Amino acid sequence: MKCKRCRKAAAAVDLPSHHSAFCPDCFFLFFRRQVSEGIRKLRLLSPDDRVLVCVSGGKDSLVLWDMLMELGYRTEGLHIDLGIEGYSDRSREKVLAYAGARGKEPIVVDLRSEGVPIPDAAKHARKEECSVCGTVKRYFFNRVAAQRGFTAVATGHNLDDEAARLLGNLLHWDRDHLSRQHPLLPEGPEGLVRKVKPLWRVSEMETAAYGFLKGIDYVTEECPMSRDATSLVYKEALSVIEEKMPGTRRNFYQGFLRQDREVIGSLGVPAGDEEAIRGEDGPEREAAHGAAAVPAAAFAGACISCGAPAYTETCSYCRLKERVIKT
Ligand code: SF4
Repeated sequence: MKCKRCRKAAAAVDLPSHHSAFCPDCFFLFFRRQVSEGIRKLRLLSPDDRVLVCVSGGKDSLVLWDMLMELGYRTEGLHIDLGIEGYSDRSREKVLAYAGARGKEPIVVDLRSEGVPIPDAAKHARKEECSVCGTVKRYFFNRVAAQRGFTAVATGHNLDDEAARLLGNLLHWDRDHLSRQHPLLPEGPEGLVRKVKPLWRVSEMETAAYGFLKGIDYVTEECPMSRDATSLVYKEALSVIEEKMPGTRRNFYQGFLRQDREVIGSLGVPAGDEEAIRGEDGPEREAAHGAAAVPAAAFAGACISCGAPAYTETCSYCRLKERVIKT
């Protein structure tokens, strides 16, 4: 099959949801346009931003960093070494190799050194690994960004991630999460740095194809803690539908974004309730790949222990660390 754009080269990437197929060069143009349009439409970033890109070593985050650099944004990488034996070492190596080849030195937070490697912290705190992981990662994303003067934190969540999360939230009629799901969480005067998801328009397959064709070497194994992640079930369900009806996933998520203000209103969340809109940083938010309860909590100010933004007297990270140390 020929590329549907240039009509010269052989197509390398088939995109049924876009009724298209592209050769590598035309696919790069397509991918770049999808990401830049996603940034422009929702005003995720401006040229003046200093962007902290959270890089796990997986395809999505490394592709995100690659694309933001290509688009000309000022970026630095942040890698959180989760302290998961074997997997974390291999992930860290990929990040260092990627960055080193581009003359970059990522900021690395080692959770073993911080006293909260995820498997141990989860055991001591008697919580799910993914829940603990979400709390710890969010804490360091914001802390590093705030301390070093970054104006935005970017994560590599793609269309599949966001659509799966939306499906999970809808199936459980989770009003709090529904009212907070958005690729842009604005900064707050409380010291919360803006959080953005610039890959919200591109699918996991498109991201993987971009990474592969660009020769980006990423960690291909799944985190061993992801075995029971409910988001994988939602992703599988959406993949079955997508296969039969290409484009459904995109319509599902983008339709939600177009209507989310109305949805927010219908769910009884007051328009302009900044905490509700930004509340993804709440203390017990959904873990990065799983689901957990999120009580809406009033913002209390700075954590009395570490000074980070907190919704209670002590932030969720410090409370977690205290539990880990005590046991
Ligand atoms: Fe963290 Fe994701 Fe691994 Fe869970 S599956 S521990 S959220 S990296």
